[in-house]
Amino acid sequence: MTRTPLDILGTVYGFDSFKGRQAEVIDHVTSGGDALLLAPTGGGKSLCYQIPALLREGPGIVISPLIALMQDQVTALRQLGIRAAFLNSTLSPGEQRSVAAQLRAGDLDLLYLAPERLVQEDTLDLLAIARPSVIAIDEAHCVSQWGHDFRPEYLQLDILAEKFAGVPRLACTATADFRTREEIVANLKLEGGRIFATGFDRPNIRYLVTERSGGTAQVLRFIRNEYPGQAGIVYCLSRKKTEKVAAQLAAAGLTALPYHAGLPAKVRADNQKRFLNEDGVVIVATIAFGMGIDKPDVRFVIHNDMPAGLEAYYQETGRAGRDGLPSTALLTYGLQDVVLRRRMLENSEADDLHKRIERQRLDAMLAWTELVTCRRQALLRHFGDDLAEPCGNCDICLFPPETFDATVAAQKLLSCVARTGQRFGANYVIDVLLGSDHERIFRFGHDGLSTYGIGTELDRNGWRTVLRQLMARGILTTDAEGIGSLVLTPKSREVLSGELTLELRKNPLIKPAGRKKAKKSVPAALLAEDGALADPEAAARFERLRELRLKLAKEAEVPPYVVFHDKTLAAMAALRPRDESELMAISGVGEAKLERWGAAFLAALAEDGDSLEG
Ligand code: ADP
Ligand code: ZN
Repeated sequence: MTRTPLDILGTVYGFDSFKGRQAEVIDHVTSGGDALLLAPTGGGKSLCYQIPALLREGPGIVISPLIALMQDQVTALRQLGIRAAFLNSTLSPGEQRSVAAQLRAGDLDLLYLAPERLVQEDTLDLLAIARPSVIAIDEAHCVSQWGHDFRPEYLQLDILAEKFAGVPRLACTATADFRTREEIVANLKLEGGRIFATGFDRPNIRYLVTERSGGTAQVLRFIRNEYPGQAGIVYCLSRKKTEKVAAQLAAAGLTALPYHAGLPAKVRADNQKRFLNEDGVVIVATIAFGMGIDKPDVRFVIHNDMPAGLEAYYQETGRAGRDGLPSTALLTYGLQDVVLRRRMLENSEADDLHKRIERQRLDAMLAWTELVTCRRQALLRHFGDDLAEPCGNCDICLFPPETFDATVAAQKLLSCVARTGQRFGANYVIDVLLGSDHERIFRFGHDGLSTYGIGTELDRNGWRTVLRQLMARGILTTDAEGIGSLVLTPKSREVLSGELTLELRKNPLIKPAGRKKAKKSVPAALLAEDGALADPEAAARFERLRELRLKLAKEAEVPPYVVFHDKTLAAMAALRPRDESELMAISGVGEAKLERWGAAFLAALAEDGDSLEG
């Protein structure tokens, strides 16, 4: 009677069903196929070569860099009744001879080896006699030169394909990085094999992407509304920004701590410890934070700047919800991110090849942010994992975007870029489209262009939305120097000529340009005759806001009126804005001030409301 993989799973391991794509991989390898298997740690990769080794004739060979773990691995396998052994320098010469003898006699099911041992002449001879059933290459990312674990010995494993032609080889790794994957396939000569990715889905993480607006106030509002008092990570690109955002969140009453490589070691260690040990700490960090952090109840990961690529993004968001409870990955981004990222990339020390790879990563990231289909499906597809149905737990699934025929709008924008000589950034081009009377437009004589003022059907935000989507689709790009000038691509021509029509998402922010709403001051009805606030509660609130202003002004070493004028504070006290858009509607609150002080004032107003109601 022939044994099936499922029989072995039950009788040897005591499990009743395969997980992930184990069954598929095992079938494929058992019938002689090569493969690369990507699955997270704990994903059950080892069974994928152990079971084929038990089913096929001859010993299975497992190549692993972790000599220190071999003893434990072998002991565990022996407990299951599997005849396993290892060969490495920790064994005495006598023990090594005995393992070799067992191997020759056909008494082993599995043999563990380090790569440097395998490529020795005598080991290769020994294996040629023993005729392996399957060769597993564990921690296969060690073959990638740009990976963090590169081991030169791994490069020599390319001889396996030739020396053991016909013996199925299975490479395993938990690193999902696209680039690493390509290198594994190339360096281990697995081109004829299959790639299996499994277990990368994190269904409890909700993926949300939103346009950045209102600076830290936006982050604050999200945390307040969705996860008040809970732990989370806010990633920022620069050290300076992590400190600024942490301070703003702290000023608004959150326990928020900065973390970046430039902080003194003790501060870093303390902040990390508090994040791990206290409840509800928000850490505001650069990507220096997170490696090896295993905190189960991180409820949210916010990217407050565009990540470098989907691999990094996936890894960073993966720190949310390890306990399996609902969690959110929120990405806020703006057009400026793309320019900034590109500038960083072009100015980096990397060689051309690396730059090209990084550019591809960024493009993929950008395309993902501007998707109009399920984000999770696309994310998993990027890692070779499949999700049959849209997930129902990302912003696209939850709030399907409206789309509109943007062909004409795109043509206007592209031709405006062309006519201004591909030398200007987004703001300028949009100024021309909107027919702005900005002095520099006249200086360059661009008020005479046919595209001057032809774009009033959209407002500034509307144009930025269109622009971002064109960039995400490779229809427009920024200059190679990273200055931020918009530049046409071969695809631009297809749009300009009408060959390519465009269906773009209508961002909620897209709206016909109208007159700006008048900013609000204190309605006259709320004022007493002397011009003060009539309502005593509002007057008290006004005083509290003034105290806050004084504190913030001192901290920033500016006079109080630089923060906000009295008139603005009075309007806040009277109108009690609850969120950043309401705050923005108040006279004297512009974007810069909203960004800098908005969170603190909203927090104070909210607290006020709480204490009144409570
Ligand atoms: P990896 O090598 O991918 O990190 P392992 O192969 O060590 O993962 O498996 C992780 C754990 O999952 C082990 O304890 C293993 O026994 C268990 N496991 C593997 N496959 C199954 C299965 N089909 N059913 C239940 N448990 C499994
Ligand atoms: Zn979805």
